[in-house]
Amino acid sequence: MKTSERPCNPLISVVLPVYNEQAVLQELHERVSVALRSTGCRHEIVYVNDGSHDGSESALDELADRDPAVRVLHFSRNFGHQAAVQAGMADARGDAVVVMDSDLQDDPNAIRHFVQFWKDGYDVVYAVRVARKEGLLKRTLFSSFYRLLDAVASVDIPRDAGNFGLVDRRVADCINRLADRDRYYPGLRSWVGFKQIGVVVERGRRHDDNPRVSLWGLVRLAKSAIFSFSSFPLTVFHIIAALSMCT
Ligand code: UDP
Ligand code: MG
Repeated sequence: MKTSERPCNPLISVVLPVYNEQAVLQELHERVSVALRSTGCRHEIVYVNDGSHDGSESALDELADRDPAVRVLHFSRNFGHQAAVQAGMADARGDAVVVMDSDLQDDPNAIRHFVQFWKDGYDVVYAVRVARKEGLLKRTLFSSFYRLLDAVASVDIPRDAGNFGLVDRRVADCINRLADRDRYYPGLRSWVGFKQIGVVVERGRRHDDNPRVSLWGLVRLAKSAIFSFSSFPLTVFHIIAALSMCT
């Protein structure tokens, strides 16, 4: 798509999955709203409450009452981070859609840069995380995961790129149409193609020391990523099956 084809008065959506983040919602909303206003574009903010049980539900409803740019989806139970992203993406109406976490680890100031790259003609602008503030175990696991995915994936999925980023409406529509159930959003975002660019964004510290995605949840996500984007595990099973027939 040529830059000139971007709408002249675009709407930017921000999708925020929320699981028990009441303590930070007010600050998050202010920072995201300020960042969006700095783009000079119209905006909407879609919060997806993924079955929180800490008061996030009423806090989000209050935000929606106060700010007409806010929409809230409430899940009937906790379905997980990727499911919340999927629902928010499906609900977002923007000409460009930003996905970010709600725990202040993703810096809202990056949105302005994402939008500028999008206006310059990029269809996908993703954050490349530097200076991760997680503990040694988690950083080691993440780095091993990215190295493994790099080695076996049949598409080029950038290292150290998580969900945080912007996609053009056409890209959002393509991702929304995919039938995958076990989703790894950064992988799908690479797989659909289009003109992509990574932007270095410093990864902040979580507002509390209690990640909502458990270690087991991260392992499940890594499994989804590897099984979705690589035939390597299946090839191993084929070899084992072939060998077992020979013995
Ligand atoms: N989250 C969610 N559902 C879950 C777990 C997490 O919507 O079951 C949200 C959470 O509120 C946050 C984002 O997903 O906005 C990322 O969660 P977390 O910070 O635990 O992930 P990490 O940064 O450790 O990868
Ligand atoms: Mg986090």
